[in-house]
Amino acid sequence: MVITVLLTKPFIEAKELLNQIESHAHDAYFVGGCVRDLLLKREIGDIDIATSAPPSVIQQIFDKVIPVGLEHGTVIVRYRHQSYEVTTFRVDGSYSDQRHPDTVEFIQTIDQDLKRRDFTINALAMDKQGNVIDLFDGVSDIENKIIKTVGNGYDRFKEDPLRIIRALRFSSQLGFSISPNTIKDMKKVKSEIENIAVERINNEISKLFAGDYIEIGLKYLTNTKVYQHLPIMNEYPNIIGLLPKNMRAVQSFGGVIALFHYLYPTISIKEWADEWKCSNKVKNDALILNEALLHFKISGLNRKLVYLLPTEYYQVFSKLVNILFKQIVSIDEMEDIHSSLPIKSKKDMAITGDEVRELFPQLKSGPWIRNTLNAVEHEVLSGNLKNNKMVLKDWIKWNPHVTD
Ligand code: ATP
Ligand code: MG
Repeated sequence: MVITVLLTKPFIEAKELLNQIESHAHDAYFVGGCVRDLLLKREIGDIDIATSAPPSVIQQIFDKVIPVGLEHGTVIVRYRHQSYEVTTFRVDGSYSDQRHPDTVEFIQTIDQDLKRRDFTINALAMDKQGNVIDLFDGVSDIENKIIKTVGNGYDRFKEDPLRIIRALRFSSQLGFSISPNTIKDMKKVKSEIENIAVERINNEISKLFAGDYIEIGLKYLTNTKVYQHLPIMNEYPNIIGLLPKNMRAVQSFGGVIALFHYLYPTISIKEWADEWKCSNKVKNDALILNEALLHFKISGLNRKLVYLLPTEYYQVFSKLVNILFKQIVSIDEMEDIHSSLPIKSKKDMAITGDEVRELFPQLKSGPWIRNTLNAVEHEVLSGNLKNNKMVLKDWIKWNPHVTD
């Protein structure tokens, strides 16, 4: 049965691309996650397009084409300020390194291209009229909220064991269950996860922790024992069990690391970041959030905490506080405190390090300057001192401890 769906705005905009490709005598379809999410009435991530046109033809048709993965037939087309991933229909050769297919072969029809995709719910294509091509009963699996591999699960997971983690991540994002046969096959192949690049695993596990149905994703992660083959979790098998019952989606992996570190301080943030091959940004996020959590534990939400925590962390911090302390700290509350702060950063202080030194010409430069500035910063933030040069100078002169 062919089902036809009403296109929503992002698809209507992207239809132009399909028209153009078709006018060059090639086929083109919307494909994968975007079709799944349209059927689910879920917010669309990216619109991916699959086409019979080889990348060279796509490069001729469109002005702005970024060759991001030519060897796999993938380019990004920039069109009316949007990016679209356009991939030539292909079949994958064998996966001897379990990372990338050794060869890819471009083909002329979409059928085989859909067959190489991981799950039935992701193996859907849709033409520009909204007719869905559903060769593997993906539509009924979406209706029944079930994740199943396309074809034999054992073979498909052997080919690319990352799919095992992708199954968990989709269960967490969509709230779907994983079919019992697929689970059996996941368990059989799970040890091969250790052969795949940690960066790929990291990307999927980050999405698992950010999923709206994280409790389902975590339940599968635990029950399938897939965690036994993930960095750190393999050495500390009880670590997932430490997560509170009210666990909710955490949008940043830095936030996830901060959470685990708070619950189990023996494993340092550096160790998490190194073992999971995180970017410096993620590591830094974890360090900043950890500081804020420790501060909150001792002093609660106060001016100092809001001063130290950059605005972009409010959302994830509020989430972590809710998970760990079962307290509500709203972003509004933090923003209100922030706007009432006498200074927003060290730069706003009415006195500089040089000016501090000039107050005591007889002393050599040293850590006392920084200590003094820190003490003054603390007084200003607490509301004890006005952020005014004369006031600050006077206070420093009459507070001998700061020159220790
Ligand atoms: P999201 O909305 O999170 O981006 P998605 O389904 O689009 O979800 P992607 O990782 O962007 O997921 O992959 C796009 C599509 O490519 C998938 O829907 C699937 O059809 C296919 N795909 C991606 N990775 C694999 C894989 N490892 N094996 C087989 N097919 C894959
Ligand atoms: Mg996608």
